[in-house]
Amino acid sequence: MTLKVNSEAGAGLCAGCLSAKAFNGLCAPCRSELPVNHWHCRCCALPLAYPSAALTCGDCLKFPPPYNRSVIPWRYQYPIDGMIGRYKYHGQRTFARPLLADFCNHLTAALSTPDVPTPDLLIPAPMHPRRRWQRGFNQAQDIAETVGRRLDLPVAATLVRRTRATQAQRELNREARLANLRGVFEVRGEVPARVALVDDVVTTGATVRALAAVLRDAGAHDIQVWALARTPG
Ligand SMILES: [Zn+2]
Ligand SMILES: [Zn+2]
Repeated sequence: MTLKVNSEAGAGLCAGCLSAKAFNGLCAPCRSELPVNHWHCRCCALPLAYPSAALTCGDCLKFPPPYNRSVIPWRYQYPIDGMIGRYKYHGQRTFARPLLADFCNHLTAALSTPDVPTPDLLIPAPMHPRRRWQRGFNQAQDIAETVGRRLDLPVAATLVRRTRATQAQRELNREARLANLRGVFEVRGEVPARVALVDDVVTTGATVRALAAVLRDAGAHDIQVWALARTPG
């Protein structure tokens, strides 16, 4: 798939190749190129090289995260990285549409299994107001609202606040990441027992850990992480 420079693919066309044989914004060949996160850590969804139903990654074994499980269908690789980037940084929703449609189907299937309980509330990863103003929207909130509408789940976009903008986590080591996020998230209201954190991409996992920690402190018992894609490490 080659992502088109002009994303004005139109409602019926494939966002990847502009073919008219698209379903939910992608044709079958382009959809087959999406990097499915087949084998992954059962807790943080870190992509793993080989299949194992019960494998937990080294990081989760050493530092058990404050959340219970993750539902993350894709790996953050080509062409997902480009599609999310265009949606997030350039507001090209054409590329988000097929991902969101497939994500909702993936979540519906996951929720029909006993492994994934239905959350009482969806909580998008908050963005600092200044960054939101620069970008024009918070993609995590956009994703949460789309999922909420499709799955009939409530969304609380202002329950957790980001008190300051932070440096990109990717450039920092573990200690610096934790220090970078200390006191960044603030819960402002009642948190139900079961919640799902929603974000576009989980990179180092430090942000979702920090978010889950404040939600757990505020009374959540079952915390899930729902995201489109996970970086390979
Ligand atoms: Zn196509
Ligand atoms: Zn893990």
